[in-house]
Amino acid sequence: MPDTRVIFKKYLPRAAALIFIGVLRFKPASDKIRLSAAQCRRTTKGENFSLDEIIRAISGDGFVSVVAISSRGLTERARDIHKASRVCTAAMGRTMAAASILGSELKKDGASLTAIIRGGGPIGTVIAVSDSLGNVRCCAGAPEAELPLAPNGKLDVGRAVGNDGTLTVIRDDGEHEPYSSATELVSGEIAEDFASFLTQSEQIGAACALGVLIGGDGSVRAAGGYIMKLLPGAPEDIISVLERNITEAGAVTGMLDGGTAEDVARRVLHSLDPKFVSRAPVEYRCGCSRERVLGALAGIGKDDLRDIAEKGAKIEITCRFCDAVYTFSPDEL
Ligand SMILES: [Zn+2]
Repeated sequence: MPDTRVIFKKYLPRAAALIFIGVLRFKPASDKIRLSAAQCRRTTKGENFSLDEIIRAISGDGFVSVVAISSRGLTERARDIHKASRVCTAAMGRTMAAASILGSELKKDGASLTAIIRGGGPIGTVIAVSDSLGNVRCCAGAPEAELPLAPNGKLDVGRAVGNDGTLTVIRDDGEHEPYSSATELVSGEIAEDFASFLTQSEQIGAACALGVLIGGDGSVRAAGGYIMKLLPGAPEDIISVLERNITEAGAVTGMLDGGTAEDVARRVLHSLDPKFVSRAPVEYRCGCSRERVLGALAGIGKDDLRDIAEKGAKIEITCRFCDAVYTFSPDEL
């Protein structure tokens, strides 16, 4: 039996070359897209344009795993909550897709994964939190900040996020001390940063594609992505097959605009006999509650709380992740 660690080291440089960034495109409202009959029906319904879901698949030989997400609905929800600009919607959508995929790998109920991207760019720090089912929430420091399109006509996520900083991933199983690891940002384009995080901090060969397509009216038209991992002992020739599949599949938003997460997994595992392991719905979900907010208030300090209460004013606290507003009377404080 060869030493899998050595095999992985050998893989890392090429596996890192697998990194592929979901391409963002800005489409004017007049751009016509052909839709299947089923898609047209869903379009006219508005709300249910696509079901957000996570699909897990594995190659027939068991050496490549792909987790793909379709997340248009939850990305649109984030845009609405935060009144986010186009470029910030794209940054949040990409971060949520990756956090949801990685969060859904946590085994325990009550576990959570937090991804923090501090790049020093105009939209500020982007934070996404996923539960163990992949339900996710997000916020950004300055969600309204907008930038002109990049010279290539795409949303300039890299510049909006910035690349002078770190991607930190915190895994909390709900029982032990949370486990945190961080890597330096590569470009601020997010998919590249997550792929680099996985290859460096988890020492595995990985590819990540994330994308958000904004329609002419500013709403989210398609969103999602995938994370592909090479499992120990994978034969070297499988990498060139994966590279070809990824190149031929093209931008992830192109696959998801009218397609599903399953379509994405099928395309990138083309000719590798994909087996589908699971599929589950995901949504934008915030875990805030009155009790939790009160708990956080307790951290302010008794004297300050007494001061507020003595002034007789109600206090209002807005959740940073959702549109919930909690009001507390002086008595409660
Ligand atoms: Zn909330």
